[in-house]
Amino acid sequence: MLTFSVSAILGKQQGTVQRFDFDEAVIWDGKDDPSLAENISGSIQLLKLPHEINVQISHLHTAVNDDCSRCLKPITCPINIDFAEREFIIDLPERDLEAGEEVKRVDLSANKIDLNDMIREEILLHYPFIPVCSQSCKGLCSKCGINLNEKTCNCIHEGMLRISPFKIPKA
Ligand SMILES: [Zn+2]
Ligand SMILES: [Zn+2]
Repeated sequence: MLTFSVSAILGKQQGTVQRFDFDEAVIWDGKDDPSLAENISGSIQLLKLPHEINVQISHLHTAVNDDCSRCLKPITCPINIDFAEREFIIDLPERDLEAGEEVKRVDLSANKIDLNDMIREEILLHYPFIPVCSQSCKGLCSKCGINLNEKTCNCIHEGMLRISPFKIPKA
């Protein structure tokens, strides 16, 4: 999954380009991996450089499973990524790399590139900051825990006191 053959351009001269679309059901089961609710789809362009393959992904779309941060209801959040780019090294010697530099490499034993890490990184970068079921979600009452989208309660909240008309000082 998300592993693509580079046989068609690996031996070609620099500047050779290959483009294709993909649409895959992906399951990541690591503890910190996003839980995907839809296939990952998008377009890929591979560009052959002297020592690397430049990978550009565009129009990536998927959706992730999460919980509304206000009412805790399970929701799916769409993720759209216009553009992302990485270099995958073909044969650059280790000594040309800076110490500690993290590099992605073409798998030369299988003539493949593995885009799982790249796409996982991009999805986490584009992850909704505060996922909500709706921008108008009222959330749960902090005192009695009732879902305020469905019911109202008689709890008194400090936030409510502050806007109470009885508390507004006279001008
Ligand atoms: Zn909600
Ligand atoms: Zn309440």
